[in-house]
Amino acid sequence: MVLNLPCFLPATPAGIVELLDRYNVETSGKSCVVVGRSHIVGSPMSILMARNTKVGNCTVTLTHSKTKNLKELCQNADIIIAALGKAEFLTADMVKQGAVVVDVGITRVDDPTKKSGFRLLGDVKFDEVAPKCSYITPVPGGVGPMTIASLMMNTLQAVERRD
Ligand code: NDP
Repeated sequence: MVLNLPCFLPATPAGIVELLDRYNVETSGKSCVVVGRSHIVGSPMSILMARNTKVGNCTVTLTHSKTKNLKELCQNADIIIAALGKAEFLTADMVKQGAVVVDVGITRVDDPTKKSGFRLLGDVKFDEVAPKCSYITPVPGGVGPMTIASLMMNTLQAVERRD
């Protein structure tokens, strides 16, 4: 992946790249802040966004829990990919007008009004951030289904390569 050779991409980052591609989001030359550096989401996401590919060519800042000026970094970002697992962490004051926001987070919170007894929240405070964005992904219904689709795609490619 780092060398941009054919390989199985981690499913969640691959799904996000596909989303950005399908919605024709311009990434080249843009500043991208990835919040979270896990092995399955944040770190590979940062590599994919920096690669010299159609979706890529960003100037990427990979942030984590020790990052000191996260708010300022996010305020200056054209693209924010929030993958830290803290419900509604990213608020409107952290996002610039016209930004593209991708919400990876999934946190279950109790909700007695739901039949299931819970609801899902993302890492982004959707209602207040959405009006500032040119694009934003919802939770649920955004990155999650793309992760599933990417897993299916990887599975299909694995079978094709085996055969
Ligand atoms: P991890 O817990 O493995 O990683 C979280 C990362 O966020 C860490 O790098 C951590 O920093 C960083 N972080 C935590 N708090 C802060 C903070 N206050 N400021 C900046 N960075 C912070 O989580 P995952 O990457 O596995 O998952 C992240 C979220 O995405 C979860 O909600 C998970 O459920 C969801 N998820 C969703 C998927 C989907 O398909 N939609 C797929 C996979 C995950 P540090 O390294 O310093 O500890």
